[in-house]
Amino acid sequence: MQSGGFVIEQFVEAARDVSIDDAAKRLGLKFTGRRHEHPQPCPHCGGTDTFAFNTVKNKWNCRAGGAGGNDGIGMVAHCEGLDLHRRQALLEACSIVLDRPVPSEAGQEHAAEAIARHRRLEERRRLNEAQLAERAGRQIDYRKRERQKARSIYEAAARVGRFGRLVVDYLEARGCGRIGASQWLRCASELAYWHGSDQRGRPSKLHSGPAMVAPFINADLDAIGCHITWFDLARPPKFRPLLTDPATGEALPTKKMRGSKKGGLIPLFGDPSAARWVGGEGIENGAAFACWESWREDTFYFAAGDLGNLAGPADPASRFAHPTLKKPDAKGALRPLMIAGPMPRP
Ligand SMILES: [Zn+2]
Repeated sequence: MQSGGFVIEQFVEAARDVSIDDAAKRLGLKFTGRRHEHPQPCPHCGGTDTFAFNTVKNKWNCRAGGAGGNDGIGMVAHCEGLDLHRRQALLEACSIVLDRPVPSEAGQEHAAEAIARHRRLEERRRLNEAQLAERAGRQIDYRKRERQKARSIYEAAARVGRFGRLVVDYLEARGCGRIGASQWLRCASELAYWHGSDQRGRPSKLHSGPAMVAPFINADLDAIGCHITWFDLARPPKFRPLLTDPATGEALPTKKMRGSKKGGLIPLFGDPSAARWVGGEGIENGAAFACWESWREDTFYFAAGDLGNLAGPADPASRFAHPTLKKPDAKGALRPLMIAGPMPRP
């Protein structure tokens, strides 16, 4: 027969082995982050993102309470307002971390209190799970809608060839030569450019005009999004409309991407089954290169949409601090904003 003291000792030892990850689940904390860091209001001190735990570093931190550490017992004690200098409070913290009652030999915890606490934690856990599920559902809906929207913009536009001559004129004006036809590029003669919202919160139409519409395709050649370039043949040298934000007066981009672009590319001319592929960052420079080498029959020409899509991420070793821009770090101190460097990751 083991003595009561020994059983309690084992109970506390077992609680010390519980990871921050497991302790957070048992406390009903939120897993808000995409990766390992999960900021949120502190259950004890409040705030908005004052509290965070990290499941890989196995650490927690509360800025409001000025506390932190690398064990589940400490985190539970802080969140539940338990003073670990008191033996009874320590056992309670261990009981939460392990999700089981304090062994009966200790015998001091009132059953009613334990049940009430258990119910409260259960409720917090249930709410968090429901919120997580709802958020995941909303993200899937949003992506689906965006892809659907991208597809319908693309499908409503005319193929460049016999129709869609405005795109041919635009590309010629941009020095890309006179393309005959493209099985990929399309032309919308009057496409709305939405920006911001009106007094009633509805999206407001800032501009409407001709646009070149290209698909974003993935490795299976499925359309996952679209790339839109509004143009204005009366405005050299770039032949793009002048779009400005009515609130700030800032110039707005004349290109937009809808749906997804990650891992995809914009096909311009030719077929992906070609042995030779030639790609550039933008549609215009890809087309200009194709024109310069007179549209080789054996080549598939494409654009990446942006530099990250073309070359992959930058080498972290080449990143540098912005001379003036700053942003707050995890502790709220202002640090220079780090900018991706010029070297690609090998
Ligand atoms: Zn706190």
